[in-house]
Amino acid sequence: MGAKILDGKLLAGQLKQQLQGAIEDLRNINRIVSVVSITVGSNTSSSSYLKSQKKIAQELGIQYQELNFSDAIRQGDFLNQIQQINQDHKVHGVIINKPLPNFIDYSVLVNHLDPIKDIEGLGERNLGRLLLGKSSLVPCTAAATLALLKSSDVILKGKEAVIIGRSEIVGKPVALLLLKQDMTVTICHSKTENLEEHIHRADIVVAAVGRKRFVQGAWIKPGAIVVDVGINEENGKIVGDVDFDSCQEKASFISPVPGGVGPVTAVMLMRNALEALKRSL
Ligand code: NAD
Repeated sequence: MGAKILDGKLLAGQLKQQLQGAIEDLRNINRIVSVVSITVGSNTSSSSYLKSQKKIAQELGIQYQELNFSDAIRQGDFLNQIQQINQDHKVHGVIINKPLPNFIDYSVLVNHLDPIKDIEGLGERNLGRLLLGKSSLVPCTAAATLALLKSSDVILKGKEAVIIGRSEIVGKPVALLLLKQDMTVTICHSKTENLEEHIHRADIVVAAVGRKRFVQGAWIKPGAIVVDVGINEENGKIVGDVDFDSCQEKASFISPVPGGVGPVTAVMLMRNALEALKRSL
């Protein structure tokens, strides 16, 4: 069949244009969106997530500061730093980047963050509000997945979605967002039996497995939409969780890796930062 591409770079460009105007308007009343991105240790500069955060913030005129802590930092000191940022009215959004040392508990940190500054939307308050269908800062990768699906212009309501992966960062929030679109949602995971049968039923497949080229074309219902969230390294290149070549023969739309969910995710992060500033006013 030859699926159409869900072009994340194109969509990211369109979304950036939409944000630009709102950011300009705020700048004109002396409100500058400001983000702090926290990293720990020295081996962080190669992270593609970090690079795209910086690049997009720069393009949008968002103030972006990287705060790098020593990998010997203790959890208590980390919490104190977060407390200070919580009280700093000039900072609207905070990103806590991984990896973190294994003696640091990410969930404690993210829940110490003022929910209004939790622009990754990963604290209990924002995830809980998402569960309840209330407005919240939505986890960026999930928001990007939905935005890519919508860019297909296919009506989502009533469709059967199968999500592979049940993480708090991707799988579960994607499921909640798709449920809110009135889709019928199944979450599959490592203990799911008959995975292929579930996938074969799906009008929409979202792969967030963390295993390269895992989803095979033979499993895909003809005409389904496939969104690949995966980021896996292979010989210095990034590959997705979907076997692109075999899946694109069956699907009607497919998102590539790279150039699919990734670029849109970084824009969603900055959209949340803008939203955080608006909420702080
Ligand atoms: P994770 O490791 O937390 O979760 C993986 C999920 O896949 C788990 O729920 C597990 O049950 C499921 N799984 C593992 N093996 C399976 C199998 N054989 N069958 C069915 N399910 C199986 O990973 P994550 O943080 O959710 O990330 C998933 C992927 O998305 C990774 O490739 C990650 O790099 C990528 N990611 C991309 C973005 C982005 O912005 N594009 C953001 C976050 C994560």
